[in-house]
Amino acid sequence: MTVPYAEALAEFEPVIGLETHVELGTASKMFCGCDTTFGGEPNTHTCPVCLGLPGALPVVNETAIESTIRIGLALHCDIAEWCRFARKNYFYPDMPKNFQTSQYDEPLCTDGYLDVDVPLEGGGTEVVRIPIERVHLEEDTGKTLHVGGATGRIHGASHSLVDYNRAGIPLVEIVTKPVTGTRAKPAEVAKAYVAELRDVLRGLGVSDVRMEQGSLRCDVNVSLNLPGDDWGTRSETKNVNSLRSVERAVRSEVERQAARLRAGERIVQETRHFHEDTGLSTSGRSKEEATDYRYFPEPDLVPVAPDRAWVERLKAALPEAPSVRRKKLTTELGLSELDSQAMVNAGVLDAVLATVEAGAPAAEARNWWLGHLAQAANSRGVDAADLPIEPAHVARVAALVAEGALTAGLARQVVDGVLAGEGSPDEVVVARGLAVVSDEGALGEAVDAAIAAQPDTAEKVRGGKVAAVGALVGAVMKATRGQADASVVRRLLLERLGVQE
Ligand code: ADP
Ligand code: MG
Ligand code: ZN
Repeated sequence: MTVPYAEALAEFEPVIGLETHVELGTASKMFCGCDTTFGGEPNTHTCPVCLGLPGALPVVNETAIESTIRIGLALHCDIAEWCRFARKNYFYPDMPKNFQTSQYDEPLCTDGYLDVDVPLEGGGTEVVRIPIERVHLEEDTGKTLHVGGATGRIHGASHSLVDYNRAGIPLVEIVTKPVTGTRAKPAEVAKAYVAELRDVLRGLGVSDVRMEQGSLRCDVNVSLNLPGDDWGTRSETKNVNSLRSVERAVRSEVERQAARLRAGERIVQETRHFHEDTGLSTSGRSKEEATDYRYFPEPDLVPVAPDRAWVERLKAALPEAPSVRRKKLTTELGLSELDSQAMVNAGVLDAVLATVEAGAPAAEARNWWLGHLAQAANSRGVDAADLPIEPAHVARVAALVAEGALTAGLARQVVDGVLAGEGSPDEVVVARGLAVVSDEGALGEAVDAAIAAQPDTAEKVRGGKVAAVGALVGAVMKATRGQADASVVRRLLLERLGVQE
């Protein structure tokens, strides 16, 4: 039983809170020198430190500290003058040390904010300030593979395998304070925050921020209360892996909680699992009784005391905020207000800008992200910005078209290849053999074949109905799998048929 979103929010006030985990793109792990490259034979990127073998001693990764400080600065946080790591003690097979090295009451960065643009119904945007509680560093766990069951879950499995390649990869956790005052659109605000945060992180170059690969993942907290009452009990939907799902997770939770509250039932404080297919979540672990992690300061690591001059240098060298860069799109690149509104709504403003910065003309960048890529995203049920393609890829395709190496049709095929995970645009061009055929010798045969196959059409063209040549051009394009330059084909056909335009 649920209450429709708008109705629920007319009756109850929402409070949301987002915990975002970001895998840093460092070359080595958080506390050892192991390789962080994704994939690799299971358990080959491991050593005594990340396997937690007795006597192994961890050392802090300086680049991870630097990246975390830069994230904190970009989010307007205070940077601790002195802080320590802590042991979070619990047993789980994907965590070989029996504790996670994390930060507890001494996080590296505290008390910041991020301003996000939230689309307004009638057009335009509204700035909502999201308060940030903390940004801290911890390490990722390994991965468990459940074998033998139908669904890949532990239920029904005959046995499980553990891969520790991911164990010890630096993970930054960014936690918001409770966000109040989102009124009728907590889901939209949550999505806009994660999108903006991802753009900030991408701009910092600290992570590849791929939600579908799990390098950026969110836990979404939601509660409802009656106006004037204290905040309600929250639920926490875990590991939400796309922007669209962030929005849907909040929406479905508002609808579910409102129905329970209306019926006089209470909300159980629990974790929930979001299901991509249904857009709904199911109950997970109860959090009514707090787990005692027996946190204590990590005795094997020295405290972290970032030099103030270093922090100042990092601050001075921060890249422009995405919001500032976005303003440039309209002021410097001459895109219309309408265009930028459409791009905000589609969540691709930053992608368009990054594509322009990678060398594409603004109009081309706009066309790709609002055109073919928007369609591709739509048919996959994801947001365009979540597609597995980089702005630099799009810019490269645009450059290939400008050079005449690809036609518009071939360019779309190249982009589809990139989306299908076949590699970079240049790799797809080679692998799929996609290159414009403008060599007249090579086209000659296809042109002759088209004329021979459609003698009636050819006769019409000879008789002066030049428009009919389109059918022949189409046949040649089809025969060359779209790789011919259509204007060259048309000229060759008219030459062969002795027609002058
Ligand atoms: P936990 O480890 O239990 O997940 P955290 O403090 O790490 O706790 O994160 C809790 C998140 O939930 C934070 O983003 C916080 O702002 C948010 N939060 C706290 N109280 C509420 C509430 N009543 N409703 C919604 N969100 C809340
Ligand atoms: Mg949590
Ligand atoms: Zn290691």
